[in-house]
Amino acid sequence: MRILIVEDERLISDAIAAYIAREKYEPVCAYDGEQALEIWDAESGNFDLIVLDLMLPKISGQEICRRIRETNSTVPIIMLTARSGESDVVEGLDSGANDYVTKPFSPRVLMARIRAQLRMQNSGSVRKNFTSTTCCDGRVEIDSERVEIRKDGAPVQVTKSEFLIFSTLASRPIRTWSREEIIRSALGDDYEGFDRTVDTYIKNLRKKLAEPGHENGWISTVHGFGYRLDS
Ligand code: CA
Repeated sequence: MRILIVEDERLISDAIAAYIAREKYEPVCAYDGEQALEIWDAESGNFDLIVLDLMLPKISGQEICRRIRETNSTVPIIMLTARSGESDVVEGLDSGANDYVTKPFSPRVLMARIRAQLRMQNSGSVRKNFTSTTCCDGRVEIDSERVEIRKDGAPVQVTKSEFLIFSTLASRPIRTWSREEIIRSALGDDYEGFDRTVDTYIKNLRKKLAEPGHENGWISTVHGFGYRLDS
């Protein structure tokens, strides 16, 4: 497994490379945007994953993402974002990244996310239209193709509505969704249940995903407004 690390801060880059090497993957480092694209071209995109900082000299991480996706590559891209700002994350994901980690990050979390992406890639569940995403520290996978949620690789039994609601929350992990938005986005305009029906679905999802330390199943209640997926 070859992993391209694009990060201009040497200390961070070295630390990531060391962790990657420890997992017996091969790290290749680029220290600015231009170099990243040069390496990508020179190696004909022969990488299994990219760890991509957004704030880079010369060419931004978002632009690199876009250019790599223009080559029709489905290589998993995990962005590193310095700010926890929503717009950074949204722009990064919109430009074609699969997942993101906010700096400062724990190397263990980054490695878990890398493993999750590689696992999905190997299981063939990642197609060109990215039907699979991860959330919850890389431990929960949402597979739209199989309509399946997996925690630590094991399927979690959910109903179709629960699946759609969880997918909606995970589509923008740090965003808070009102009950009405969840219904409209997950279940459609012609859904005839009450707003509070969402609470029941959320309660069920929490029960199915909860574990010590994550008693709420990674779904936070935002009082007076709605719900948010813990990223
Ligand atoms: Ca940077």
